[in-house]
Amino acid sequence: MNNSTPNPFREMQFTVSAPNLSAFPAEDRVETAFAGRSNAGKSSALNAICQRRKLARTSKTPGRTQAINFFEHGDIRFADLPGYGFARVPPAMKAAWQALVEGYLAQRANLRGVVLVMDVRRPLTDFDRQLLDWGGAGDLAFHLLLTKADKLSRNRQMSALLSVQRAVHPHTAQLFSATQHIGIAEARSHISAWLAAA
Ligand code: GDP
Repeated sequence: MNNSTPNPFREMQFTVSAPNLSAFPAEDRVETAFAGRSNAGKSSALNAICQRRKLARTSKTPGRTQAINFFEHGDIRFADLPGYGFARVPPAMKAAWQALVEGYLAQRANLRGVVLVMDVRRPLTDFDRQLLDWGGAGDLAFHLLLTKADKLSRNRQMSALLSVQRAVHPHTAQLFSATQHIGIAEARSHISAWLAAA
């Protein structure tokens, strides 16, 4: 896929914000979820993939959103999972976040894969490993976006990519930058392949 390939996610529209499992939309469309530690760059990645400036809101108050935001167009849907990872989050909020995200990953029959966004300079945090664990229990596929790649030299990008790929195999990983437009077409084509698979 290159820049002249039509972007299948250009028309995604926000539909609902679900603070608990009972508010999730029906499992009537194939779905991809986006996850990432707060401030990892998840909203920027989602906006870049959809080629929209403000579809997902980039974080103003880190770690505050405690709902899953759903976007859809035609027969596909994206689920933007709330970020987590700030040290001073109260235990009750952490428990609510865990119930929501773990519940989502465990029960969503139409979920085809999870795009896990992480800062290429700090990959595979405890948060990331926790999500991979929860998803692993249900045989979920993960594709890791190592974002903010523009912050590293080409050599360091490549060594980060190789070590993450080795660590998460058979899950997949790629370099990404929302600001420098690195890896956007590759991410789209990975997500498209998930959503097209029966
Ligand atoms: P979220 O909390 O995971 O949704 O993260 P945001 O998308 O709000 O991004 C967090 C911060 O990282 C913001 O200041 C963004 O401008 C910055 N950021 C996000 N993506 C990139 C990137 O690819 N390169 C650089 N240099 N900065 C980025």
